[in-house]
This record gives sequence, structure tokens and C-alpha cells, in this order.
Amino acid sequence: MKAKLLFLLLFTCSLRAGWEAGVAAVDITPSEPIWLAGYAARTKPMESVRQPIHAKALAIKDGTGATNVIVTLDLVGIRREMAESIAARAASELKIPRERILFNVSHTHSAPVVGGPGSYSEIMGPQLAAQKEIISRYTEKLSGLIFDAVAKSLAAIEPATLEFNQGLAGFAVNRRRVSHREYPGPVDHDVPVLAVRNTAGDFIAILFGYACHNTIMSDYTVHGDYAGYAQHYLEERFPGAKALFVMGAGADSNPLPRRKPEHLERYGATLADAVEEVLRAKMKPVAGPVRAAMDFPELAFEGPFGRARWEKELTSKAGYTAAHGRRMLAALASKEGIPKTRPYAVQAWQFGDSLTLIGLAGELTVDYALKFKQQYGADTTWIAGYSNDVFGYIPSLRVWKEGGYEGGDAFLFSAFPGRLTSDTEDRITAAVARVLAKVRTP
Ligand SMILES: [Zn+2]
Repeated sequence: MKAKLLFLLLFTCSLRAGWEAGVAAVDITPSEPIWLAGYAARTKPMESVRQPIHAKALAIKDGTGATNVIVTLDLVGIRREMAESIAARAASELKIPRERILFNVSHTHSAPVVGGPGSYSEIMGPQLAAQKEIISRYTEKLSGLIFDAVAKSLAAIEPATLEFNQGLAGFAVNRRRVSHREYPGPVDHDVPVLAVRNTAGDFIAILFGYACHNTIMSDYTVHGDYAGYAQHYLEERFPGAKALFVMGAGADSNPLPRRKPEHLERYGATLADAVEEVLRAKMKPVAGPVRAAMDFPELAFEGPFGRARWEKELTSKAGYTAAHGRRMLAALASKEGIPKTRPYAVQAWQFGDSLTLIGLAGELTVDYALKFKQQYGADTTWIAGYSNDVFGYIPSLRVWKEGGYEGGDAFLFSAFPGRLTSDTEDRITAAVARVLAKVRTP
């Protein structure tokens, strides 16, 4: 009875904010045996589907009529080129301004390779030659399906209430400590939850986040990893609701221990439990309107970019270093040349004085989330990494100095020349401050 009264009270507060919301899920499970992304060591395409994967969209319209759409994807990554082309279509056909659509991937390592410029399919070269057609077929279809999810979420818009709060879940482990016990190994165990209910008080969408690689399994089956299982369990527990997972700044976190199918269920259930605990307790009504801004500052790769560097790589005994040298020499000879910088997507949505959602590109290390939450409010700041463009690891200055895979070596597996410059954290910090200044009212 007390709970019902409390809900009615929150409900009237929230309804006064004039929210409307719509949600949609579109199946993006591959229909032919495609290569799975995320592990260079895989030697063959997928063999079966453990769980369907999805593109989901949540549209949120505030009292002024402004509409924001968050798109969550059970994929290892999305490139800027694909995100921008879908966003451009959403702007022209659905009238959603660029800064009001955000793409986030779960980074599941058990979803298809997606093609496109500078993508994995090109990087894997001869190994994937036989897969080229399948990958381009899937990629083209995927773009359409993601757009469909956005369009369907807008078509489903109805009066709604929005509430926010956070829980905790503890299975993310700082993976750099596996080989370096001396490292400090920060983690972000927060579980941010945005609950969306209809006028009957039923959940229609549960948007939740966690900062940890979706890398439990490395086999040949398709699934959403722990995030896929958490979404599935929440949808079972709250019939009628769609659950959407937002990946945080978990680039240096792994779910450990891992590699057994039962870990998918265990960590999926742990995360779903954390979300359920938040949903069943008192949550804070979210105020409107939503102010949105976006910027694309340049991040820079470390030179030199000349032939000598790549020829030296060619002579390396490590196959992946030699392959990187070959790719860079080919890039050097191409019309576009070697990319020396990359536009870095920084996006912010400010929900009244209730919540700040910051979407940042790339595989963002935990330091960024901890820092921005300290700086902008631990209770009301949500950091979504892996947003709008997943092109490589984005180390903090601390991780950059430590070096290693996330510190810069991972670029040897990419179409980019090498690690980012040492001022990367400064550039991102300044850009976040600029973008937040635009959306935060004094
Ligand atoms: Zn990763």
C-alpha cells in the first residue's frame, strides 16, 4: 500500500515533467555463418547461436517536444562511418538532430564482424577473404535494421515516467593486474539504471549500464555475453519491458574468472539482480528538459609516419606487427594516406538537474569514468564508453605511461598507425568540459 502511494506520488511528479517514451528491439542475429569479432585467434566462422542478439532503441521525448534516442547494440563495435550514416538518415527522415541520437555497443566478443572503412574485415586480410561477401551483406542489412529500431521506438512513443538510481555489482576485475600485480587496478562497479514506465505504472524500458568487457566466452557461438544474459533475465522478470544495456568505461576490466558457459548465466544474473534491486527500491524521478550537445575534437596518433617505421615493423618476428607494417605501407601508398588523427565523439545529454549522460567514443579505460563522476557528480553522472565510434583503446595518462595492450599496443591490430599521443586525456577532459558547459544551466 505504502509502495503504491509512493509510486503514485513519484508518478505525478514525473508526469508533470511531460515525458513520453517508446522502445523497440530488432533482431540482428546473423542468418549465415559469419566470422565473429573480437579475438584475432579465431580460425573459423560461427557455428551456432546461443542467444539472439539485438539492436534496441529507446526514444525519450521531453515536455518541450525534443526527442532523444539511445541505441544499444549487441556488437563488438560500431565505426564512426556507420554511426554517422545512420544518424544522417535519422536526421533527414525522422528529424532527430545528430546530438540527440547516441549509439552504444556492448562490445560482446560473440557477435559478427561488421565491415566498412578501416574495419576488422579489412584488417584480417587473407584469412577473411572467403568471408568478404557475407560480411558486406550483413553490414548492409545491419545499417537498415539499426535504423528500423530507431524508427520503431519513435512510433511507439507514449506518456511515461522516468526514474534513475544506481546499484553495484562486483564481477568486473581490472585485467591489467593479471600480469601486473603492482598496478593499482581501478574498477567501476556502478550499475546506473534508468527506469521508464507507462501510465499504468508498468515498466516499458529498463536502461542499465556496467563497465566491463563482454568477453566471458571466446568460442564459435553467437550471444550477447553477460550483458545479453542480463538483458534476457530482466525481460523475463519484467514482462512487457525491454532491457537495454549501456557499456561503460570498462576497457581495462574483464569479467573474471571466465570462459565457462555457466559464467554467462552467473554474471548475467548478478547484473540483473543489481538492476532489479534498484528497480524495486525507491528511485529518483528524472526532471526535464533534455539538453544535448556534441563535439568531435581530434585525437592524434604518435608519429613518425614515414616508411622507415613500417619497414622496420615488417621485419618483426611477431606476425601481427609485420601485418601492421604491411597495412601501413599499403595505406602510405593509398590516396587517403595514413590517418594521423581521428575525430573523437563527445556527447552529453543533461536531464534537468537529475542526470548527466556522457557518451564517449572508443574503448575507454576506467580512470575516465571515475574522474568524470568525481568531477561532475557521482550520483548523477553516467559515463557511456564505446559510444558512436569504437576504433581503439583510449588510455588515461596513467595507463598510457604504464604502456601495454590498453596503453597503446592494441593499435597494432588496427588500421591506425599506433598509439595515441600523451595528451589524449587532456584533450578529452577539455572537450567534455566544453560540451557540458553547453548543456548545463548555471
Ligand atoms: Zn576491447
